[in-house]
Amino acid sequence: MVKCLECDAEITIPKDVIEGEIVSCPDCGSAYEVYKEGNNFQIRPAKIEGEDWGE
Ligand SMILES: [Zn+2]
Repeated sequence: MVKCLECDAEITIPKDVIEGEIVSCPDCGSAYEVYKEGNNFQIRPAKIEGEDWGE
């Protein structure tokens, strides 16, 4: 279980999640990329094409 970086809601990471998979917050809809840190999975903001870099 991790917490949304935007709104602090709890996000459940599936047990069979693969590193690099995208999960989204059920509350605010923010998308996160799952990555592995040691034995635990963590999340970081997903890079959404076009959002930060313009056209
Ligand atoms: Zn959220």
